[in-house]
Amino acid sequence: MIGDEGGGDSPPVIKARKRASVPEENGEGSNEDDLYLPYLKPNYKRLYPENSLNVEFKVFIESKDNKEKLGNKSPIYLNHIFAAEVKGVVAIRRINANKITAIFKQYNTANNFLNNTKFMEKYNMKAYIPAAQIERTGIIRYVPQNISNKELYSKLSSSFDIVAVRRFTKKVGQNRVPLQTVSITFLSNTLPDSVQYDLFSYRVFDYVPPLQQCYRCFKFNHSAKVCNGKQRCSCCSGEHSYKDCDKPTELCCINCGGAHLAISKMCPIKMRKIQEKKTKITYASVTDSKRDEFPPLIQKPISKQPQDTTINNNSKNLASTGSPSKIVDLKNLLMTNNDLTMTIVRTLIAIANKADDSPVTTKSIKDLLFKNLP
Ligand SMILES: [Zn+2]
Ligand SMILES: [Zn+2]
Ligand SMILES: [Zn+2]
Repeated sequence: MIGDEGGGDSPPVIKARKRASVPEENGEGSNEDDLYLPYLKPNYKRLYPENSLNVEFKVFIESKDNKEKLGNKSPIYLNHIFAAEVKGVVAIRRINANKITAIFKQYNTANNFLNNTKFMEKYNMKAYIPAAQIERTGIIRYVPQNISNKELYSKLSSSFDIVAVRRFTKKVGQNRVPLQTVSITFLSNTLPDSVQYDLFSYRVFDYVPPLQQCYRCFKFNHSAKVCNGKQRCSCCSGEHSYKDCDKPTELCCINCGGAHLAISKMCPIKMRKIQEKKTKITYASVTDSKRDEFPPLIQKPISKQPQDTTINNNSKNLASTGSPSKIVDLKNLLMTNNDLTMTIVRTLIAIANKADDSPVTTKSIKDLLFKNLP
């Protein structure tokens, strides 16, 4: 899914396809006719630039053989080969079962290591700079679908080098349909405000990568490739694959226990994770600086008043105060008014367990909320 901060387009679902920015997947054989294949700067290989602002220079290393888990190798072995054969490495860390990172203090020693094909061949390893170290990806919107990624790459100009152009697509039945949103990857630690297409200027927005969900254990933020959890069923949450499920209609989400598939967007936990991700990336700089100024939560004594008066009092406060105290008031309102909280909870459960395909809209949620009021 792509972020839609401030935009009206519904977030298209993009399957976590292989990262197109990894150099060896460069589209040498890419078909000219395919307008929508990711377009990567020809012969682009990630290297640390001379003017890099990084304090340390990370290089990720994996085995070329998927079955060989470099992250699970003995530190004695890793220390031995790196100390003896790699110049300038100051630390090695495990990232996950498949991956380790080597830390360099100088950009050029990191680059030398990346180009050390002899070492890579000897130990059957591949090394690369993680994208986040030197690249930033933003999105532009309302790009006509008849412009290919390649054409965009050659026409777009910006204050930073563009290294990849990818158009978002949406799966409709068996086909992928191009959307008007395009992601642009810049060789830079910050995003430019805009990119130019001849005279036309596109505003560049933050790109929020899709939430990763493991297809083995169905937890979040890791892939099945590196999963340490048990195989779970996305239907009943049992310890088997969904293909072997003997009660595929008795849905029980592994994450929240609700009656939906573990991958469902109906899952309140999944929705929360998606929201958290958006907020973190888009607003991190704002909220971080404001966090200390956030007023402490005032614990009001449980109200003895009739409930509707409590709501009225609080809604008066809501209308007259700024946003931080608004949140405090909302928290107080929820904490002191169990009926209201339970109404919201019942509504969320009803939405999560919704059996029909009717769309969830603001109106339908409101209707449900009022219906659930005691
Ligand atoms: Zn997992
Ligand atoms: Zn099952
Ligand atoms: Zn769930």
